[in-house]
Amino acid sequence: MINYYGNPVTRLIEEFAKLPGVGQKSAQRMAFYILNAPADKAQSLADAITDAKERAKYCEKCYNLTDAEVCYICANGSRDAATIMIVESPQDMAAYEKTREYDGVYHVLHGAISPMDGVGPNELRIKELLLRLGDDAAPVKEIIVATNPNVEGEATAMYLSKLLKPLGVKVTRIAHGVPVGGDLEYVDSITLLRALQWRREL
Ligand code: ZN
Repeated sequence: MINYYGNPVTRLIEEFAKLPGVGQKSAQRMAFYILNAPADKAQSLADAITDAKERAKYCEKCYNLTDAEVCYICANGSRDAATIMIVESPQDMAAYEKTREYDGVYHVLHGAISPMDGVGPNELRIKELLLRLGDDAAPVKEIIVATNPNVEGEATAMYLSKLLKPLGVKVTRIAHGVPVGGDLEYVDSITLLRALQWRREL
């Protein structure tokens, strides 16, 4: 990039331009917004970035994001700990939370099996799920596999089903009310809810 504005501003634009979905024009607009904002606003943005990086960690039980040992869902005694919904990402968890109908707990895999991208079961939080099933005082009654309805999500669901069924736990899969190839994060709440209600046993 041509250094029109001096090093610090050019650097800021370049950093913004590295963010997903941000092109040069938007990066420039953001940088100038920051430059024109009061110092405390700029500082607050910088603080939010370092704070999130420093304090965000994974829940020791379900691997959702949290700043405590366990996330607010696992810490909530009124949730049904005997039902675990397996999702690919914290964003998918949040999509199901927005339906306000699911009262079980979650397990976040942080991805899906994808041999093309070199992601196998060992790269996901599957070992942790097995440990959790062994550990929990309350026996788990149902595991709902809510991975995305695309090739990777289906492969992951099949793998989990083969792995979990011999343990004597009921394994279900969300229905295809969710558009095939879709990303759960962007599906509306009613569709998600229907997919959950029409789940079938694997
Ligand atoms: Zn948790």
